[in-house]
Amino acid sequence: MTAEIIAVGTELLLGDILNTNAQFLSQELAKLGVNVYCQTVVGDNADRIYAAYEAAFQRADIVIATGGLGPTQDDLTKETAARFLGREMRLDQASWEKIQAFYQSMNMNADTHTAPNSQKQAIFPEGAVILPNDNGTAPGCCVEREGKTLFLLPGPPNEAIPMYLNAVIPILKTKTDAQFVSKMLKICGVGESAAEEMIKDLIDGQTNPTIAPYAKTSEVWIRVTAKAADEAEAAEIMRPTLEEIRRRLGDHVYGEDEDTLEGVAVKRLLEKKLTIACAESCTGGALTAKLVDCPGVSGTLLEGAVTYSNEAKMRRLNVRAETLQKYGAVSAETAAEMARGAAETAGADIGVATTGVAGPGGGSLKKPVGLVYLGLHYRSRTSVKELRLAGDRQKIRARTVVNALDMIRRRLLEEEEEE
Ligand code: AMP
Ligand code: MG
Repeated sequence: MTAEIIAVGTELLLGDILNTNAQFLSQELAKLGVNVYCQTVVGDNADRIYAAYEAAFQRADIVIATGGLGPTQDDLTKETAARFLGREMRLDQASWEKIQAFYQSMNMNADTHTAPNSQKQAIFPEGAVILPNDNGTAPGCCVEREGKTLFLLPGPPNEAIPMYLNAVIPILKTKTDAQFVSKMLKICGVGESAAEEMIKDLIDGQTNPTIAPYAKTSEVWIRVTAKAADEAEAAEIMRPTLEEIRRRLGDHVYGEDEDTLEGVAVKRLLEKKLTIACAESCTGGALTAKLVDCPGVSGTLLEGAVTYSNEAKMRRLNVRAETLQKYGAVSAETAAEMARGAAETAGADIGVATTGVAGPGGGSLKKPVGLVYLGLHYRSRTSVKELRLAGDRQKIRARTVVNALDMIRRRLLEEEEEE
């Protein structure tokens, strides 16, 4: 089964908004094993929308269009679909009542909700299955023609995403007897090409399950997908492959599916009833912010200090003036003292520190842009990690955060092995 996505909206063509609907839909369709070979972006123009439908219907079994379902003049997606499919447009009374109720609940005046342009949202091509919109006014719809299916979803992602998950997936699942089930293995501490190399023979020999690595910011994700009659059979098909990948990548695998590195690190800290404090220079609070993303972090995080100047490093963390003078702010020695200072001044079990040259300026031959030191102080032992990171300022800072989280995770793993 193949699908195509048509994103409708002039604002997309102007570059004012990013086509995140296409990204979301492509990712989701891949999970179902539906191939997407083409995505189209088209402006709010009836003729070009029509041409996009024509082209997509020639190539794909499923066409999903998003955007242009609203009440305004430039919302043409549905009207053009009706014309393309040779259907009349018909008012759906139930949808119309829901839309009116929605406007009333929003306290909008009667003029707005009885205006013919808002009724436009309740008019659909004849024979369409209506997809309810729980987060906005314009419902979506699904129309079949000659074995092919057209879905029309609203533009706003907070409406399109739940509609896809709640209404589109169940319809798509009726169209294939096979199920595609995926598991994502999440890996940190090894580059994409190195990770790929470690499982190259598995990737080369893949049929069912399939194996696909993805490079993320300082992470690698490996998706394993099985085609099977049901979820249980898919799990059986995937099991040996997942085990083999985990065996080869070892400690580099930090989790799967919805797991995040910060979530895994925080979970470990909470399990071990350890407290943590951060001292951040080049990451400017981003490491602490990542930890704070995790619910329940108050059970472990005591504080995060952004100690950017040398003066702050000395006053706040007791980094010694001699250390800064002799080795510089970006050095293994300073990172170690920052980590130790963070733990000691906060009274935390663990102190973690970042210091580096994020660029674009400020690099030198000896200390180039991308040189970063991480410090971790735990149980009277301070370890330091030197990183040579690529990318612009934001990338270097983001990669530093990922590596620092990974350092916390690994330190606690090591401890398990020592015990
Ligand atoms: P529309 O339903 O076409 O009027 O779109 C309403 C709003 O939804 C737009 O102004 C965007 O903010 C958002 N939107 C529309 N299409 C997309 C898309 N493909 N990806 C992300 N956001 C979108
Ligand atoms: Mg629009």
